[in-house]
Amino acid sequence: MFAEILTIGDELLSGNTVDSNAAFIASKLTERGYWVRRITTVGDDVEEIKVAVMEILGRKPEVLVISGGLGPTHDDVTMLAVAEALERKLVQCEECLERIKVFYEKLYREGYIDDPNLNEGRRKMTYLPEGAEPLENTEGAAPGAFIEHDGVKIFVLPGMPREMKAMLEKEVLPRLGKRKFVQRKFLAEITDESKLAPLLKEALEEFNVRIHSSPKGFGKYIGLIIFAEDEKEVDKVTQFLNDRGISLEPWKL
Ligand code: ATP
Ligand code: MG
Repeated sequence: MFAEILTIGDELLSGNTVDSNAAFIASKLTERGYWVRRITTVGDDVEEIKVAVMEILGRKPEVLVISGGLGPTHDDVTMLAVAEALERKLVQCEECLERIKVFYEKLYREGYIDDPNLNEGRRKMTYLPEGAEPLENTEGAAPGAFIEHDGVKIFVLPGMPREMKAMLEKEVLPRLGKRKFVQRKFLAEITDESKLAPLLKEALEEFNVRIHSSPKGFGKYIGLIIFAEDEKEVDKVTQFLNDRGISLEPWKL
């Protein structure tokens, strides 16, 4: 069972912003037991986003998390592109309209903005693909969306890291449930990754695990992350490596 992530923004492609959202979403999905198989990034362009969404859906992930481009400006086109990819209409979400009114009235009262009324940009954020469930944005204006489409759970989240994180924790993760899954990290006392390679290959054939090996340069240790459905399977791998003369110690990141 796997997940994919799609991040959207010209600033990510130009290198002006480092894609920390993708890493954050990936780590949370991994902790939950999902295997993130691919992370895609495209610019603020309806056609590019639409094609990316359609390609991802074609691979039939269980979960797709999208982030970026929900704001009020002309380049925030994610909801429109997602609606087009799913062949759904964009429709106004009444509940979102009410929330956005309250949001801007509060900013006005607190003196952050000089006009509380809903202009076109603010109104734009109240449109979601038909059939979507709105996701509350506790840190900003734009609501997110949850759409179940052909067996894929699609979550559309804002790009601002603070808003995205809050929505992921409060609205997305509770809808995912937790799978049985463990991830353990070790430092293997061996200087050369190529010597470890045949042993890892053998372990992968014998046990039901995934292993990520990350060399630290030529030094004393190589980092190993072992993913499995239960602790016992991880223990089998550590025993297997110990038996072949590799000593492992916990790797505290
Ligand atoms: P809002 O969150 O304001 O409703 P939005 O969903 O349209 O807006 P963007 O316009 O895409 O968000 O981005 C808002 C801010 O968040 C920008 O400063 C952008 O650089 C930053 N940001 C967007 N995507 C990412 C990302 N993947 N990783 C880190 N920062 C990001
Ligand atoms: Mg953007």
